[in-house]
Amino acid sequence: MKRTALLTLLSISTFTTAVFAQQDSMMLDKIYHESFYQGQAYDNLHYLTKQIGHRIAGSPAADKAVAWSKSLMEKLDFDKVYLQDVKLPYWDRGPKEKAYIVGSKEPLNILALGGSVATPSKGITAEVIEVQLLSDLKKFGDQVRGKIVFVNKPWDESIVETGVAYGLNSSQRSRGPAEAAKLGAVAYLFRSLSSSTTDDYPHTGGTGYVKGIDSIPAMAISATSAIKLSEALKTNPHTKVYLEQHSAWKGMVQTHNVIAEWKGAEFPDKIITIGGHIDSWDVGEGAHDNGTGTMGTLDAIRTLMALGYKPKHTIRLVFYMNEENGVHGASTYGQVAKNKREQIVAAIESDAGGFAPRGFDIKASAERVVWMQQHWKPLFEQKFWVSRFLQGSPGVDSGVWGQHFPNTVMFNFRPDPHRYFDLHHTAKDVFEAVDKRELQSGVAAIASLLYLVDQQIEQL
Ligand SMILES: [Zn+2]
Repeated sequence: MKRTALLTLLSISTFTTAVFAQQDSMMLDKIYHESFYQGQAYDNLHYLTKQIGHRIAGSPAADKAVAWSKSLMEKLDFDKVYLQDVKLPYWDRGPKEKAYIVGSKEPLNILALGGSVATPSKGITAEVIEVQLLSDLKKFGDQVRGKIVFVNKPWDESIVETGVAYGLNSSQRSRGPAEAAKLGAVAYLFRSLSSSTTDDYPHTGGTGYVKGIDSIPAMAISATSAIKLSEALKTNPHTKVYLEQHSAWKGMVQTHNVIAEWKGAEFPDKIITIGGHIDSWDVGEGAHDNGTGTMGTLDAIRTLMALGYKPKHTIRLVFYMNEENGVHGASTYGQVAKNKREQIVAAIESDAGGFAPRGFDIKASAERVVWMQQHWKPLFEQKFWVSRFLQGSPGVDSGVWGQHFPNTVMFNFRPDPHRYFDLHHTAKDVFEAVDKRELQSGVAAIASLLYLVDQQIEQL
């Protein structure tokens, strides 16, 4: 080919790229406009949090959230809306926990950890062994027998990526009861995984046991109560604590994932999965975790529908059941999709709160991520303040079903992380903690990504 011909071809392709980029940029403008002016995520979140409230998997409230979500989806132009059966064990907290330092009138604020067994109905009164790390327990040897193990590891405030700070210590929540029981402890008290060190809210979360080792009751204590208890132990190492809680596993129940499909015109058999988990912990209202993720992804699709968009691929919205304490919904989803040999080309998950959007973590090859940084990031960065397009991990639900789909490109929506772990899994996670503008800005970012993935995933 002559040099002039090559240059002409190159300039045509540069020109075409520029035209497409301009079209995409105009589409993003429309999406943001629609989301800010007509967005419904905030109002839907209000209904979910105030009329249904918290909704742990297996509870009547979770069933209500399923039925209501389905009716919301049925109001939109999906081709198909259905429930997918999910069987799971139901854990119930029972009456409110009680805890105090014996001899003091002051209560300690605690919450049973998810999956915990109950204390005897009269409660447990025992001395306390305080450590920062489970590995420190060994030093105490036989002294642990008959005591309450208190793991009091403060949150690392220097880490801006709060999910990393959370991850640093979360295994002490899950492994703690078994480690403590091995040494003869009678209960496990765990300092909440909280980025706020100034409030008295305990944060619940899942824990577990090991077969063959006694199951002892396990509870999270608020950061300020943990500090109070630690001070009492410094003054008197024989300080006793009273703990009472009544949680229990209630057997297997049948529940559901909620699924809606919008058929693709060009590649109907190629699926883009988008969504988040509909269940929550059984305190607060499950607003940021994960009302914003479900109502946000639904509204992202509504936004594209309102703009008259016709998808190339089939877009499948999934509200997963039971991310919080078992991930049975995502496991079922993956198993069914695998059995049907489905082609899931991409997945978008929102489960990191509804704060101002910052971008996406992407599970894909480094080359693909670089391509997205070059082609997509500029569309978001200047105008919409969304600039994180980094290789990273998928959300929990996508990660679980993704084990069957190693080649699916996965996007994990990342809002600002600073305040999420102040209220994560607490009574503070309520509707009032969500800002409408931030939420709708996130909806627009997700809708924009969904549009770009649908248009360009074949080019990656
Ligand atoms: Zn969540």
